[in-house]
Amino acid sequence: MAMRIDGKLISAQIREEIREECAAFEKEAGILPGLAVIIVGENPASQVYVRNKKKACEEVGFYSVVYELPEMTSQAELTALVDELNRDEKIHGILVQLPLPKHLDETDVLLRINPKKDVDAFHPYNVGKIMIGDYNFLPCTPAGVMALLTRTGVEIAGKNCVVIGRSNIVGKPMAMLLLHANGTVTICHSRTKNLAEVTREADILVVAIGKADFVTADMVKPGAVVIDVGMNRRADGKLTGDVDFASVEPVVSAITPVPGGVGPMTITMLLKNTLTAARDAVKK
Ligand code: NAP
Repeated sequence: MAMRIDGKLISAQIREEIREECAAFEKEAGILPGLAVIIVGENPASQVYVRNKKKACEEVGFYSVVYELPEMTSQAELTALVDELNRDEKIHGILVQLPLPKHLDETDVLLRINPKKDVDAFHPYNVGKIMIGDYNFLPCTPAGVMALLTRTGVEIAGKNCVVIGRSNIVGKPMAMLLLHANGTVTICHSRTKNLAEVTREADILVVAIGKADFVTADMVKPGAVVIDVGMNRRADGKLTGDVDFASVEPVVSAITPVPGGVGPMTITMLLKNTLTAARDAVKK
């Protein structure tokens, strides 16, 4: 029987630690860690994510502000707000909720965020730091996966780690973090030949594709650890991962469910990055 890696529980434990660290930080520095979230337009999924981020900040005692801008906000208006938040000493982390409406240039906005406040770790400066292994901020979802692995005692050093997916947000930084933890890492994507042959070699398999139930039992090595980053909506509205949980679970030694696996960890890692940014800001 595989161990179910409980992302809800691990996330709650880490948030409790952050809550305590936040209280200690406030005593020491006389301020709270502050996060500003900018959302443009009325994408319902984005609105839910932003609400969850605000709620998470409140639960751990952070100061947080949400800027809800109308769909027709101009690039200049958005840039001016980012500049203002870059200067605001109460704000240590700035997050622009993606996707932005089509008329806005996402890259330009992300480049505008002061890298010291870039708690999503999307700025090329932080991406570069992740690459060389000298980073303050870890990209939230891959960092969440690393926390799940380490807190459940999964050894990474020397293990064959296979990541399916090479996005800038998940796949690539995930592979980098596993490499820094001394895994032997292979990255797969839509052009990979004989995918199942590669994935069957994985001691640790991280799946971030965005296709429901894509990874089946014949694609995994018996006893492997499987991390499912996928979040897909079924026709009935239910959330499901990229791994066919029912067929894969009996074969592996540990697996994350969807929901309740990687999902809860992402916002927790955002909180961690905001606390790190606040600590760094008062050090100067
Ligand atoms: P993405 O940007 O669409 O990237 C998907 C990756 O999967 C691409 O690299 C693509 O390869 C690869 N891929 C697609 N079909 C494939 C196939 N048949 N075989 C092998 N590789 C294939 O997606 P993403 O942003 O990384 O997100 C991936 C999933 O994770 C989504 O379900 C998303 O909702 C979820 N997610 C969850 C969280 C969370 O908090 N839990 C956070 C972020 C994302 P190519 O590069 O060759 O096209």
